[in-house]
Parts: sequence; structure tokens; C-alpha cells
Amino acid sequence: MKIIVDANLCEGNGVCEGIAPELFRLDSGGQLHVHAASDPTAEQRDRAARAVRYCPKGALRLVEDDHPIHQPERTQP
Ligand code: SF4
Repeated sequence: MKIIVDANLCEGNGVCEGIAPELFRLDSGGQLHVHAASDPTAEQRDRAARAVRYCPKGALRLVEDDHPIHQPERTQP
């Protein structure tokens, strides 16, 4: 399990940290740090999913390790 944060959307309000403090931590500068376990418990998975759902900025995404992030192919100019 990976948790992707879009730093351009995150406003550092700490909602995710409140839901899953073992997964998210805001530092004193308001920078969000993610500590997603590669082999999470069902409870951690549930809290991660809730953090993604309740992030008011839609800045979080959950990606399973065996489902790589789809990135569009770059086209030549
Ligand atoms: S809930 Fe969303 S906007 Fe708030 S700190 Fe977490 S990722 Fe950033």
C-alpha cells in the first residue's frame, strides 16, 4: 500500500493526521510526511482509506503495491 500526496493540493490542515496519526505526520513547517506500511493491517488500511476520503482538498490517493500508478505516456513534441 502506498499513499500519494499531491503537495500542490495539500493545505496542511491535519485532517489525515487526526484520522491516522501512525500514517500521517505534519512537521512544524506544515509539511506532511507519510509512513505507509508495505504490509498494513486491515485497521491501517481502513484508516488510510478514510483519510483519503475525508481529505478536504482531495490531495491523497491510495495505491496498492501490485497496481502501479498509471502515468500517461509522454508524447514527443
Ligand atoms: S487532510 Fe489533505 S489537505 Fe489536510 S494535511 Fe492531509 S493531505 Fe493535506
